[in-house]
Amino acid sequence: MIEKTDVVIIGAGPVGLFAIFELGLLNISCHVIDNLDRPGGQCAELYPEKPIYDIPSRVSISGQELTDDLLAQAKPFNPTYHLSQQVDKIEKLKSNEWLVKTSINKTIQAKCIVIAAGAGSFVPRKIPLKDIEQFEVRNILYAVRNKSILKDKKLLIVGGGDSALDWTNELSKTSNVTLMHRRKEFKASPDSVSKMLELEKDKKINFLMGQIKNIEDLNNGKIKVETKHNEEITDFEIDYLLPFFGLKMELGPIANWGLNLNENLISVDTEKFETSVPSIFAIGDINTYPGKLKLILSGFHEAALMAQECFKYCYPDKKNIFRYTTSSKELQKKLTSV
Ligand code: FAD
Repeated sequence: MIEKTDVVIIGAGPVGLFAIFELGLLNISCHVIDNLDRPGGQCAELYPEKPIYDIPSRVSISGQELTDDLLAQAKPFNPTYHLSQQVDKIEKLKSNEWLVKTSINKTIQAKCIVIAAGAGSFVPRKIPLKDIEQFEVRNILYAVRNKSILKDKKLLIVGGGDSALDWTNELSKTSNVTLMHRRKEFKASPDSVSKMLELEKDKKINFLMGQIKNIEDLNNGKIKVETKHNEEITDFEIDYLLPFFGLKMELGPIANWGLNLNENLISVDTEKFETSVPSIFAIGDINTYPGKLKLILSGFHEAALMAQECFKYCYPDKKNIFRYTTSSKELQKKLTSV
């Protein structure tokens, strides 16, 4: 089934979220797609608790608070979010509209595409072993999306950051968990570390120092993992391996869409923030132009100008009359209806 909308926004970071609002003011509907399982981009993923001091009119606001406020601001315009999926392909139709296809085979038809993809998709750092992909299909999970499949299973969680320790603490309630890290010092929050150490003391989890050296398929749905610490080799059978080595950012499929790029960033003009392909726009950290500052407030400005140009594609027969939100009764009705 093909879903239809005016604009597809690729990326639900702060700039993609504000674009929903700016487009909404002009009666332009949006679908928003993000690879991550929640909106907020870098703010929610990399620094949810850190205060940001250069959002106009906010003396200080955390990454998560900013995300929550942007979501609330966009809400009156009823955007549709498609999370946990990457935009893989775009295809131009004879009607000059676009088909946007995602990694889970969702297809959305739109008049314009707004790329607000930051530094690209966040993708998990993998275990540096050759042919690791063959185990990813069944035995390796880089994120826990469905806890119930892990119930009563034997798990090896690897890493020393918040994700590794939080999942160790949580999954120990229902599964047989071993946590492995290179050393017994952790980057996770002190609270998570003390919870984990308590569980280890009570023998509710096992802790192992080391690194993964080899993985073997046991052909019974399980894998044998060989680990090494100093010269000591350990191996054991598990159902699932959960590596939490953090995320890296990759431009990914966007690099193949025929847009003019400059050092992996998308070149745009500074009047409309349109790319070298008409009706495809790029805003926020993903774009480049003379004087570009990778700041959230720059992305907000870009979103406002992009929306003015999108209007022409979405309503070719209408004139866009500029209105302040403070003086338009129609806009106020919409904005205060939720
Ligand atoms: P992002 O926040 O990167 O979001 C892009 C989203 O697009 C991501 O969620 C990604 O998963 C998604 N995506 C990419 N490709 C695809 C695809 N093909 N399919 C689906 N989804 C895709 N800026 C400030 O202004 N002030 C600060 O104080 C500040 N502090 C910072 C502190 C840190 C530690 C960091 C890392 C950054 C900071 N920044 C700050 C920078 C700011 O976070 C970025 O400028 C901002 O996040 C850019 O927003 P964005 O929406 O363009 O991109």
